[in-house]
Formats: sequence, C-alpha cells, structure tokens
Amino acid sequence: MIADPGRPPTEPTRFLTTPGPPGAEPGRARTGGPVPGGSASGVAPTAVLVAPARQAGGPRPVINATGVLLHDGLGRAPLSTAARAALDAAAGTCDVEVDLATGRRGRRGRTAMTALAATVPMARAVHVVNNNAAALILTAAALAGDREIVISRGELVETADGFRLPELLTSTGARLREVGATNRTTLGDYADAIGPRTGFVLRVHPPSYRVIGLTAAPALADLAELCAGRGVPLVGDPGSGLLHPEPVLPDEPDASSWLSCGVSLVTTCGDKLLGGPQCGLVLGRADLVDRLRRHPLARALRVGKLTLAALEATLGTGDNPVRRSLRAEPAELRHRAERLASWLRQSGVPASAVTSRAVVGSDGVDDTGRAGAAVRRGAVTAGPGHSGHPGYYGPGPDVWESGLPSAAVALDATLAAFLRRGRPSVLGRVEQGCCLLDLRSVPPDLDPVLAATVLAAAAESGTATAGDLHALSVDAPGSAAPAEADDWAGPADWAGPGTDAGSDVDAVTLH
Ligand SMILES: *Cc1c(COP(=O)(O)O)cnc(C)c1O
Repeated sequence: MIADPGRPPTEPTRFLTTPGPPGAEPGRARTGGPVPGGSASGVAPTAVLVAPARQAGGPRPVINATGVLLHDGLGRAPLSTAARAALDAAAGTCDVEVDLATGRRGRRGRTAMTALAATVPMARAVHVVNNNAAALILTAAALAGDREIVISRGELVETADGFRLPELLTSTGARLREVGATNRTTLGDYADAIGPRTGFVLRVHPPSYRVIGLTAAPALADLAELCAGRGVPLVGDPGSGLLHPEPVLPDEPDASSWLSCGVSLVTTCGDKLLGGPQCGLVLGRADLVDRLRRHPLARALRVGKLTLAALEATLGTGDNPVRRSLRAEPAELRHRAERLASWLRQSGVPASAVTSRAVVGSDGVDDTGRAGAAVRRGAVTAGPGHSGHPGYYGPGPDVWESGLPSAAVALDATLAAFLRRGRPSVLGRVEQGCCLLDLRSVPPDLDPVLAATVLAAAAESGTATAGDLHALSVDAPGSAAPAEADDWAGPADWAGPGTDAGSDVDAVTLH
C-alpha cells in the first residue's frame, strides 16, 4: 500500500459517524465525541490503511494489534513513510540499472548499495537478494559448491513455518559437516572438522529457540581467529536484521558487531528489525561478495526495483515504525490504552486498559510464549559472561522472547471475529476470555482508526451494550492464539497452547 498524500486527513473518521449497519439496534454503539488521538496528532492517520474504495481485491490492510512487532503472517516490518513514498517513485520506469550521468548501464540498485555500504562501514562490500534464505543459498552455492559447510549441531534449526536451515543449505549440493552436540560445541570441535573439504564455517543465531542449562559455544571472535588461521571463511547469520546494536535488545546480535568480531560475511534480513522491505542483505569481504554476485544463481535471487527503492529509503532515515514500536515507553502505551478505552466506554463499548507483554518476533510463537512465561517465573537466568558480549551466543532470556512491557485495550472476546473481518481488519489476541488489542505493535497515528473500527465492530456484533468486563488476567502474548485462530489461514502452529498460564499473570485490574 502506498500512502496517498492527497487523501483528506479526516477520511478515516468517517467510520465514526457512520451509523451501524441496517438492523443494528440504535443507541447500542454510539458515537463518542472526538476520536482519541485524532485531532491531537495532526497526522493523517491512515491514509495508508483505510481505503475502502480500493479494496476490491489484493491484500487487505490489517492493523496489527497482536503485540507481535514483526508478525510473519502480517508481512513483518511495516514500512516507513519515506519507504512508501520511494515505492511510489520507483513504480514507473526508473534508473534502477542505468547511470543517467553517462547514459551507460550501471550496477543494479547502485544508490541502494551505496546507502547500505555507508550504513555498515565495517563491510567492504555489500549485496542484496530476495530474502535471508536466498542469501544463505547463494552463499552455500558460491562458497561451498559441493564441499562442506561446518556448522554446530545446536544451530541446525527449523522455524515456525517449516523452514529448515540444514535442508536449505544441502539443497545446493553442499554437504553439512556437523560439529559438537545440541547443547555444547567447543572450539576444538570446529578445529577438528576444518580441512581441505571445507567451503566455509557457518554461525547462526537461532531466532526462535534457546538451549538452556549445560551449554557452551566458542566466542565468535575465537571462532573467527581459528577460521582466519586455517584460511576458511566464517559466515554469520544473526538473522534479526539489526545492522548496529539496539539498546532495547542488548542481547540481540547485529551485523556490524559480528563483522568487528572477524566474521568474513554476514547475511541478514531486511524486513525484521531493520524495518525495511523483504530482502536478504549480504555484507562483508569484497572477494567473497564478488563470488556471490558472479554466481549464476545471483540472477535468480536478485531483487526488484521496488525492493531496492524501499531499502534505500529505509536506510536513509533512522526512523521507522519498527523502531518506534521497539522504543515506545510503557507509560506512553498505557496512556494510549487508557484514552482509547475511555473513549470506547463513552461510546457504549465495554473496554479497559490493561498491562500486556509484546514480543519482537512471531517465529515459533507458541514456544516464545512459554519461554516468556518461564522467564517471568525466574526459571531462566542468563549464564555468566553472556550478556552484552558482541559475539553473544547461547542461552539466556532476551527481549525477543521474554517480551517488552506493553499496554492493551481489553474488549469482549466476541468482538475478535468482527474486528478481524473489519475494514481495515484488526488482529488482536484472545486471552482469558478477552480480546486484547496490544498497542505496542500499533503505530500511534492509527489509534483513531482503531477506535472507529472497534466501534463499527461492536455495532455489528450487537455487543456494545453497557456492561462491565469481568476481571481478567493477561499472560505473555505467545500463550494465546491470534484472535480467532480457528479460521485464521496461517500456520497451524499459531493455534497456540491455549491460556493455561493463569498462575503467572501480569496482574490486571479493570475499571
Ligand atoms: C528470519 C531468519 C531467517 C530467514 O530469513 P528470511 O528473510 O525470512 O528468508 C534465517 N536465519 C535467521 C537466523 C533468521 O532469524
């Protein structure tokens, strides 16, 4: 979706003044004064989201109120205004592969590559492909061929959507040389495995699981030194999409730190914490990047002009919705939840502001929920010497799993299905008999649209009677399915383990 600057900023509020659908009992849901955040923000709320006339087909816009900041089912990172504008600019014909100064063919996406190289000065060369999986395939094909990729048994992961790293790597004809054990791998294990058949050594930061207890893995810098001494490249996949350390996620590895540790080549995602379009970034030694770029597969994995445009714009500004969600202050989220809930109550819709926990990723959301609960019970503690180390690897709670403090609007659970089918659609979480709209994953300028959509859903459902929500408990977001998981088309995994964690609640008091 591309922002339409010409759209009148008041348009989304039309939801508010539209009476309920024919048949809805008058007075059940009524308009309740100025929309929260509407005039105050002065921002055209959702030029980007609310465009009913254009929604005949194609993807439906969804307000992500799940509290999962990077939701695989919702397309991961929402793009910045700058990136949306860049998409528009690139949509026609553009200079993606022509140097307008000379009139000759230029390197494809040259300005995006320059922006990426400038953002990560540690990288001597950069390349961009379709996604991180493509970056790994290309690396395997170009640097290993039919030789061996040395990897720890603790890093042979499968993600929630059934993506298996080992199968991806071997699909290129490369062989895996597994070293160590699931929970412990030593530098000596790597040293023993490296030999004439080694293509490269791979270090992966598994996004969605942790081995806890008796664990070990060599520090990244030590592994890099070993690889350099043996003359084999060390490839690193930190996955998260961070190019630099993120203060809110101190244990999450980033590309620059891994390159500083001596990793030869880093692959990572464009649409995770970087907040950009789907793509895979390859950063590192010039000779290695060059081998990737020259491999025949590179042509099949290359990105389009739209991706390049959105990536360049994302790199050009430090501000994007993902970063804002990550860094939002709990007090600010609480304030938004209270304002929304109070406005809804005035409009005849039972609603309360409650505390909540948001999580960064939806990858393996079931497990994430359980891990989050465990962290808050104190069952998981960081091992000594792990925290903050640039080559951090191994067990220990991090915010990816244990959640960020958040606030939500709690509604009657029956509204979830109406909200999901609304325009825009709103996805929340159903927990303990309530539909929670977690605001950390909702850009603040969408609050008025959210309010209007809830009101419309309440009118449609007929549930907007004056009444009190019963007291409820709220657990980590991963412990419940996205709203109405039964007919949600996403991976079956997301149905979740249900709400069995009543003993471990972020206590919530409702008005
Ligand atoms: C997310 C992730 C991937 C997959 O990236 P895509 O861009 O979805 O292909 C691979 N490795 C790690 C460590 C990840 O976190």
